[in-house]
Amino acid sequence: MKKKINIAIDGYSSCGKSTLAKALAKKLHYNYLDSGAMYRAVTLYAMNAGIAQVGKVDIEALKETLDEIDIDFVNNNGINTIRLNGAEVEGEIRSMEVSNLVSLVSKVAEVRRKLRIMQQKTAIKGGVVMDGRDIGSAVLPDAELKIFMTAQPEIRAQRRYNELHAKGSRISIEDVRVNLLERDRIDTTREENPLIQVAQALVLDNSHLSESEQLDVALGWAREIIEA
Ligand code: C5P
Repeated sequence: MKKKINIAIDGYSSCGKSTLAKALAKKLHYNYLDSGAMYRAVTLYAMNAGIAQVGKVDIEALKETLDEIDIDFVNNNGINTIRLNGAEVEGEIRSMEVSNLVSLVSKVAEVRRKLRIMQQKTAIKGGVVMDGRDIGSAVLPDAELKIFMTAQPEIRAQRRYNELHAKGSRISIEDVRVNLLERDRIDTTREENPLIQVAQALVLDNSHLSESEQLDVALGWAREIIEA
């Protein structure tokens, strides 16, 4: 039987990490874990509890309520769907309100510790593709393959804008761009497990690559390690 490796995919906001991670997991018959969805779910909980509002998070209150937050994933017709205290919240966690607050919530060390423990448990047996910001550096430092994804900010903003508009949003491209860059700023400068490019990471700039081209590149890297 072929060995099952863990694959860590980190990178900036909206550069297609989850698209690549899902496609890789499907090809390799691995599990996919979207760590960003977990930070988004905590943010949604904080918003609903009145702990987080536009540009502001009550960190002490958030720490106190962390034990009340239960996150898991269910398989919905082959698609991993996130649940927050038993309710499916996949749609709600993608809203602009959540996107605007999530980087403030993910700065909190206690939030990161709680989610990191859950993330690490899913990868104990190998065979996981996980995407996020600190996967190669903090969650799975022993992952056999680490990919750092990047793309030009204008291209990332346009892709995200298209995605949101396809779902019916009327947000302007400028608001999308501002959100991406602000999240990148907070995610790369925070004290706790900031987004960094670790030394072992292979860089994938997909500014001018199609989804199938980027999959070919990453699959090539993965197979080289699996078959070595
Ligand atoms: O991946 P996604 O863009 O959905 O992540 C949303 C936010 O969650 C990021 O901007 C970041 O603040 C936080 N995050 C994180 N660490 C991860 C994954 C996501 O801090 N491993």
